[in-house]
Order: sequence, then structure tokens, then C-alpha cells
Amino acid sequence: MINGCHGVTVLQLNNRITDNCQLKMYYVRKTLEISSCHQLYLDYESKCENLHGHNWKVNVYCRAEKLDSNGMVCDFTEIKRLIHGKIDHRNLNDVLDFNPTAENLAKWIVDTVPNCYRADVWESRDNKASYIKDDAPQNFD
Ligand SMILES: [Zn+2]
Repeated sequence: MINGCHGVTVLQLNNRITDNCQLKMYYVRKTLEISSCHQLYLDYESKCENLHGHNWKVNVYCRAEKLDSNGMVCDFTEIKRLIHGKIDHRNLNDVLDFNPTAENLAKWIVDTVPNCYRADVWESRDNKASYIKDDAPQNFD
């Protein structure tokens, strides 16, 4: 037996390590629909360099080991205020200080929303970008 993370004992059986280090976490997901326009700055010729619009679908994933004093991971209304409130019906180039690709938007959402570990950004039905922080679970829908 060896000590695992968080003081949990790890059993070594037949050269296979069984790690019981499963943290108990709360998870929430907020889905947003956002209408905005952007133009991309690219190092190749593309129609995306022209100002154009999308009806974005965004999934914001948050998690916490402990709930706040209100019993929440993050207030859904606060998520909407931080993201929808800043970029809905706006020109993304005017309100964000980076090249507003779907990938960069996903990273910005994770950096902006408290306890956010993942963001999925659809710019169309078939085109989705995600940013996932560290070893976040992949199977939470
Ligand atoms: Zn676009």
C-alpha cells in the first residue's frame, strides 16, 4: 500500500494500481444562445476576414467541490450576465481584445466564469470548438 492523493490509500494489486482518489464534485452546465458578428484576422485569404454573423450556441460547464453560501457552484444568472451580457448582439471585435475565433471564445469563457472548467462554442450546427481545462471529465453532458 502506498499513499495516494488527498490521503486516500492506493492499493497495489498484481502490479495494477487501483486509485480510489475520486473527488466528489458538483457540476452545472449552462446553455446560452448568442447572436453576434465578428471578423477574423488570419494569415491566409478567407471569407471569414469579412464581417459576418453567427447564432452561437455555447455550453458553459462549471464544477466545485463545495457549494457557496447560497448552495450553488455558480449562479446561472451570473454566467449569463458575464457571457451573454458582454457579447450578445455585439461586434466581438469591439468588445474582446483577441482574435474572436470559436476556439479563443471558448478559452475566454473558461477564464471569465468562476469555477468554469470547460466551454463548448458552436458557430454553426456542424462547427464546434471546445476548451477544456486540465483533466476535466469528458462525459458530463
Ligand atoms: Zn465566423
